[in-house]
Amino acid sequence: MRIGFGFDVHAFAEGRTLFLGGVLVPHPKGLAGHSDGDVLIHAICDALLGAAGSGDIGAHFPDTDVSLKGIESRKILARVVGLVAEKGFTIANVDAVVVCEVPKIHPHREAMTEALAAIMKIPRERVNIKGKTTEGLGFEGRREGIAAHAVCLLEE
Ligand code: MG
Repeated sequence: MRIGFGFDVHAFAEGRTLFLGGVLVPHPKGLAGHSDGDVLIHAICDALLGAAGSGDIGAHFPDTDVSLKGIESRKILARVVGLVAEKGFTIANVDAVVVCEVPKIHPHREAMTEALAAIMKIPRERVNIKGKTTEGLGFEGRREGIAAHAVCLLEE
């Protein structure tokens, strides 16, 4: 068994579409980023890469690589899942927390769970997504951006 942890933050930006957990979430602002800015997927990718002892998302998908500009994060996750499988690991489970004041995560949890499970090719019971606010404190509370924390367990 190998445990992994991932964390990411992206700032809200005007004129961007909000993607979270591979799902389009209706919101006046999206997240800034070289990719589509899907902060939840990025945290999960780092958890998986960490558990596999394979570095981090920045090393595999550098934001200096112009070919990755605007890439859908679901494609990044699919490639990370491939890397993990190549190293001989299967994903036991993924648990994650999305921290933001807006939008509300709860109404989108099921869709995110389903999308993420499909990309990772694991049963949806092995994926758990939670939303959390910071009671108005910090950058999340000021509605400046979204943070995501993720843990995963891999089986060799
Ligand atoms: Mg990121």
